[in-house]
Amino acid sequence: MESAQALVIGGGIAGLLCANMLKDRFSKVTVLERSNYAQPSDSTPATRPEVPQSHCLHMLMGAGTLAFDELVPGWRVELIAREAVPYDVGSDVAMRVTSGWLPRVETGITLYGASRGLIEAALLSVLREADNVRIQTGQRVIGLEVSQDGARVCGVRLQSTTGGSHVLANADVVVDASGTASRLPRWLATIYGEQHQIARTEVAPGRQYVSRWVRLAPDQDPGWQGLSLAPTLESGGRAGMMMRAEKDLWGVVLQTPENVPLPTDDKAFLASAAALPDRSLYDVLARAMPVTPLHLFGRTANRRRHYEDYPFWPGNLFAIGDSACALDPYAGLGMTAAARGVQLLQRYLDHSVRTEASFQSQLAKHNQWPWMIATGDWTHGASNPGMADQIDSLTRAAPFDPELAILLLELQHMLRAPETLTNEAVA
Ligand SMILES: Cc1cc2nc3c(=O)[nH]c(=O)nc-3n(C[C@H](O)[C@H](O)[C@H](O)COP(=O)(O)OP(=O)(O)OC[C@H]3O[C@@H](n4cnc5c(N)ncnc54)[C@H](O)[C@@H]3O)c2cc1C
Repeated sequence: MESAQALVIGGGIAGLLCANMLKDRFSKVTVLERSNYAQPSDSTPATRPEVPQSHCLHMLMGAGTLAFDELVPGWRVELIAREAVPYDVGSDVAMRVTSGWLPRVETGITLYGASRGLIEAALLSVLREADNVRIQTGQRVIGLEVSQDGARVCGVRLQSTTGGSHVLANADVVVDASGTASRLPRWLATIYGEQHQIARTEVAPGRQYVSRWVRLAPDQDPGWQGLSLAPTLESGGRAGMMMRAEKDLWGVVLQTPENVPLPTDDKAFLASAAALPDRSLYDVLARAMPVTPLHLFGRTANRRRHYEDYPFWPGNLFAIGDSACALDPYAGLGMTAAARGVQLLQRYLDHSVRTEASFQSQLAKHNQWPWMIATGDWTHGASNPGMADQIDSLTRAAPFDPELAILLLELQHMLRAPETLTNEAVA
């Protein structure tokens, strides 16, 4: 692949991780991003209107951090240089699961408190050091260009935000990383016919979210770097989270069931915090200073596009990240799943995975684990029929046993496979 060129559609988390991986394998890598990256400011996190979730606190789970390390060596240094705050997920985070508070125990799992804009900025800064990478912003991909026999994708059609469209050709590999609103199914239908639609699976947990950034009053010390309150029956399914990030900013997110209206003003936001399973988040928010407006995220869903079943899939096209599999934000696994997918693509391109299965069908299998966590469905596709009961027992017992608390956190952070749980360990 020495003189080959790769195109990446979308410069979000999946696209930036992927471009970092591809730069060592292709002589030229071009990232096509429809928006412009926002300049960081001291007062609020950098956000992009085209990426609505950039307003919301993003937690990178333990397995995601390890995958980022492999794909983008040096990214943590960039993150810390931009004032991300590292903290231990057990000793520094007050976490209430459905059965009670977890003991504040050292786990060795580090969370990097950072806004999503800061994570993107760290990935971008490493990428910009590579002289074979071009990041073209203000470029919206509007279709694919295929070879005459339709067997290969050889380029993309672009529309510049300043007007006009043109074709970028001679691509050896095209990666779609354009997120949950990806138009890839439409582009494929335009080329290969409307009669073959991409199958989808959707599991909507009936949750919605509201988020904002705040600063604490100078004399406020909550005694934790992060707080997480899981939903309970008594709280009517409400949950909440607050995490410290860069520049003394704290991200807050409240979850309500979809039949409960989301708060749209400060008073209703506080009232919603007061209705959580515990008053601790309300107590902190009541004195904190809001620095951003409220951002609402209506009905979210877990959604897979079954590209692996599409009969005309061209060999040099790859779909990764939310384009292929988007997860409900509650489990905080979207970036982790995206990074694991890019690791899989790396192994696929390097032929270290020797199998006849296409990349998309390998990815579908690879995503089964985060999918089970995000949907809470431990029965479909589980290797062990007792897994759901084991996880339930573990969650009930974890508040009373530091070792089980660590086990539960390792599971949530995808650092321990659920298959490794034994009945003895969680009885
Ligand atoms: C409310 C909310 C909270 C979340 N919280 C977390 C969390 O705590 N932890 C976590 O791990 N994940 C979280 N996620 C999920 C996470 O944002 C994504 O899973 C992750 O960023 C991977 O997404 P992606 O890169 O595939 O897509 P995106 O991040 O959406 O990026 C897609 C990129 O493609 C660009 N693009 C789209 N169409 C085109 C086009 N036609 N041409 C050119 N460019 C295009 C977009 O502008 C964007 O930059 C959350 C999601 C939501 C909705």
